[in-house]
Amino acid sequence: MTGTDRRSLVQDRFTQVFGGQPTHWVQAPGRVDLMGSHTDYNQGYVLTMSIDRSTWIAARPRPDRVVAIDSINLDARVEFSLDDIQPDPAARWADYVKGVAHTFGAEGYALRGFDGVIHSTVPLSSGLSSSAALEVATAMLFKELGGWVIEPLQIALLCQRAENQFVGVNCGILDQYTSVHGQAGCAVLLDCRHLTGQATAIDPGIQVVICDTRFKRELSGSEYAERRAQCEEGAAILARHYPEIRALRDATLAQLDAHAGDLPDVVQRRARFIIEENQRVLDLSGALAAGDRAAIRALAAASFAGARDLYAISVPAMESMMAAMLAAPGAIGARQAGAGFGGCMVAFVERDRVAQFIPAARDAYQQATNREPHVYAVTAAPGAGALDPA
Ligand code: ADP
Ligand code: MG
Repeated sequence: MTGTDRRSLVQDRFTQVFGGQPTHWVQAPGRVDLMGSHTDYNQGYVLTMSIDRSTWIAARPRPDRVVAIDSINLDARVEFSLDDIQPDPAARWADYVKGVAHTFGAEGYALRGFDGVIHSTVPLSSGLSSSAALEVATAMLFKELGGWVIEPLQIALLCQRAENQFVGVNCGILDQYTSVHGQAGCAVLLDCRHLTGQATAIDPGIQVVICDTRFKRELSGSEYAERRAQCEEGAAILARHYPEIRALRDATLAQLDAHAGDLPDVVQRRARFIIEENQRVLDLSGALAAGDRAAIRALAAASFAGARDLYAISVPAMESMMAAMLAAPGAIGARQAGAGFGGCMVAFVERDRVAQFIPAARDAYQQATNREPHVYAVTAAPGAGALDPA
């Protein structure tokens, strides 16, 4: 869809649902992690990239304190009062919007009611963080309508809080940070403890390609919470020997090896993955900038092997996609993305072979699984903000 088509789609929907025209437009991108699975809640590093798939909201302020919000993706609509914001299990998607209103309101930011239409090109529930894109777009809209002066980092932190406390999903800061702070044309090396990001170049000959397995294992939410708890347990046991360890980010492999017997076996494996993955983030950021193909391939392969064998977040569909990606023309390296258990994976591909890579990876996966994947190139897009009014 071109930008103009998308504008008309959203504008037409607004007119049909609310009448008249929207006056404010905002966008917030999805993201893909190039390296760093589950390192964010261990206060570690992630090499992350905001992508040219985004959530838009087109809106018009209302004179009352009501928010009427319509989602084109879900063909659903919800209305709520800013003076009585309650989650609704029957329309959970709107909890992301309500959660942002509730959280920023509680921090003293002035909220205005609006009529709004949401449209996203981030696939929902695939690991590219449509949830953070929706939260951050909502915050950007309230900011525009309320004339707030607010630090970008504060927007990311409060959106994370909305997802943690109002929606009830215990995510780390990665998704919201990337959607707010993403930069066009480069990846961001995010330090999840200090909440600082460093723009890092990607060799211009390398294209990032998303390979969506379109498989999602149920119960991935509880598996996620279990792994968080295991990491905390690992860090707590190691801290008895090394008081400077506050999170697995602080631990070294030598320290883990010296006390591996103190940790339950499963905790030891989870900790090993996180400690190794954290180092791979730093290594990949250098390798991508330098265009070091051999290093990229090896680091991505080690990340997937660890995700499968140590962190146990792989599923057969991901194995099939790994094989399909690596066998396709122009493949440099490939790994999982997001939290695992299906969803999207990511390939690094020679830019001049992308046109051959895409159908080959798609066909090989489809043949192996009987499931049609989505395979598409993405580029690094700017972080969230206002769009010009149409
Ligand atoms: P991910 O963030 O990886 O896409 P999540 O499960 O965290 O997956 O968030 C997906 C949920 O976010 C959807 O099920 C829906 O509730 C909400 N959501 C995201 N984008 C939209 C949208 N455009 N319209 C309505 N709800 C959305
Ligand atoms: Mg999410």
